[in-house]
Amino acid sequence: MLLNTQVKTYLQRSSWIRKMFEKGAELKKEFGADKVFDFSLGNPDLPPPSSIINEFVKLKELSSKPLALGYMPNAGLPQLREKLALFLSKEQGVSISREEVIITCGAAGGINALFRAILEPKDEVVAFAPFFVEYGFYAENHNGILKVVKTKEPDFSLDLGALDQAIGEKTRAIILNSPNNPSGQVYSEQEIKEIADLLRKKSQKFGKPIFLVADEPYRFLVYDGVEVPSILKFYEFSVVVSSFSKSLGLAGERVGYVLVNPDMPNKQELLAGLVLTNRILGFVNAPIIGQYLLLAGLGSLVDISVYQKRRQLMGQILEQAGLEFTWPKGGFYFFPKAPNKQEDDFITALLKENVLAVPGKGFGFPGYVRFAFCVPEETIKRSAEAIGKAVQNILE
Ligand code: PLP
Repeated sequence: MLLNTQVKTYLQRSSWIRKMFEKGAELKKEFGADKVFDFSLGNPDLPPPSSIINEFVKLKELSSKPLALGYMPNAGLPQLREKLALFLSKEQGVSISREEVIITCGAAGGINALFRAILEPKDEVVAFAPFFVEYGFYAENHNGILKVVKTKEPDFSLDLGALDQAIGEKTRAIILNSPNNPSGQVYSEQEIKEIADLLRKKSQKFGKPIFLVADEPYRFLVYDGVEVPSILKFYEFSVVVSSFSKSLGLAGERVGYVLVNPDMPNKQELLAGLVLTNRILGFVNAPIIGQYLLLAGLGSLVDISVYQKRRQLMGQILEQAGLEFTWPKGGFYFFPKAPNKQEDDFITALLKENVLAVPGKGFGFPGYVRFAFCVPEETIKRSAEAIGKAVQNILE
């Protein structure tokens, strides 16, 4: 027995991810990579902007200096925290200072540092389904439990009645991912205000603050003039977690942050806890190269017009195939309903046509399928016939 029971169960629970990956590799080997349409991975494929690429040249010079790549403060480079605080003040419409921002190993590292700092054993974190599959693991990493509240069909808007029912004395945090992976939904200011009112009421009832956590790695990528409201203005016990994995094409370099609401009562306690948990989880600090790259590249973006074009193309293809879906307001995923809501049959029919997508059960929302459009435009165009055939086959 090499693994503990929990990790063994995890391996079984997430076996569909492995299966998809293996199936993709198998199909590519058999038919050639250009004959396989792999929409399964949310791996942002656009290169970083020139501000980042140019910085690499400067880093070569810097790296020869003593301690240039040495340990640094656990919360990140002070000059980066300063710059990020300014950037976030504009983005979030709230005045933020450098002490309120901690640089983390991506949003994933940030969420883990936060959960490690705030969860007591068996505390609950509420997420709205469909949700990013890793949330459950992250909560359990720190002895917490993920409690799932479904959003409403067909547009995945929030069910605040269900949220009200789900919150109890063990609730410690609500995590809100907007723009959402996989639904593409962006939650409105009205929805956020209602969550804030509810959390204030519940925090008072249970005699402790319930945190509202916004996970926003797709904030930069919205369509048709949609805006992503900030949660900070509406609720003082709020925390924003995000990263530059998608916006600057830096997913492998692991740079993100946790931003604590400047108006949170006693915020110094949480901030000190976060600096510590970032350290003792073994991250120590976010990668130094990534932090220098960010210092140079903050404010620039990958070419989002590429995503706009892909979204249009993919949406047309799914429409022509006769699938029902809501156009994503942000992010790079479509989450259409499987014909007759039979996602397994649909995934199998897609696989027969060499198309890979991810079943909705992976996001706590069965009956749907996720297509990630961070793949070249050509692949999307060429997939039209295959997706159309898969839908036809299933309906016959
Ligand atoms: N949150 C959501 C909703 C995501 O989709 C992802 C990655 O795909 C993450 C968090 C983690 O991103 P990272 O740790 O690369 O910043």
